[in-house]
Amino acid sequence: MIGSIAQRLDEIRPHLPASVRLIAVTKQVSLEAMRAAYAAGIRDFGENRVQEAEFKKAQLQDLPGIAWHLIGHLQTNKARKALEIFDLIHSVDSLKIALHLDEIAQKLDSQPQILLQVKLLTDANKYGWIVPNLLSHLAALDRCPNLKIQGLMTIPPLGLDSLKTLAVFEQTRDLADRIRQQNWFNIRMQELSMGMSDDYRLAVKAGATMVRLGRILFGERTV
Ligand SMILES: *Cc1c(COP(=O)(O)O)cnc(C)c1O
Repeated sequence: MIGSIAQRLDEIRPHLPASVRLIAVTKQVSLEAMRAAYAAGIRDFGENRVQEAEFKKAQLQDLPGIAWHLIGHLQTNKARKALEIFDLIHSVDSLKIALHLDEIAQKLDSQPQILLQVKLLTDANKYGWIVPNLLSHLAALDRCPNLKIQGLMTIPPLGLDSLKTLAVFEQTRDLADRIRQQNWFNIRMQELSMGMSDDYRLAVKAGATMVRLGRILFGERTV
């Protein structure tokens, strides 16, 4: 890829309002590239595997002030480790994993910040709540006293045109508004994690508060 990460950030930043948090997605990205991103001002790293993040976090311990984001599907047997490593889990995608995280958080005396992953179209990727299921699980989620539920995360299906992609982001924002109006006790709806390299500008237009950028910062992944 041509240019330094600092240059690529300079091209992206004008499209991001100051209030939008840029999460650098570093799955399969080298520690050297992560250090360069840190030097260019990145403080949020997103990983989709617990073990890879655990390794990298240990290797980058000398860099203060990093927030680690889990953006990939979480299995119950990795939940404890995930709570130890990550500052925000974007990918809570079922009631089962939410209840499990709540139970472990209780034991660890921690209050993890999480987002609920939804899919607005049923042919979207395999993980995430479909809307009616999410709505019917809200009462149970609201009774998870240890979870700090902050908002929604979504990944549109691959290959949608920009109008349809924008519609998915807008529907996600509208869903968050609708949930917020229900005035739950424990559920906040202030964060919207949506937008990746190819569609982050549409996501920002629809009200994203966090974008998750990989290839546009680090180049194509090899796998
Ligand atoms: C890989 C990944 C990203 C980043 O995708 P790019 O197209 O490389 O920007 C964002 N979100 C999730 C959940 C991912 O798995």
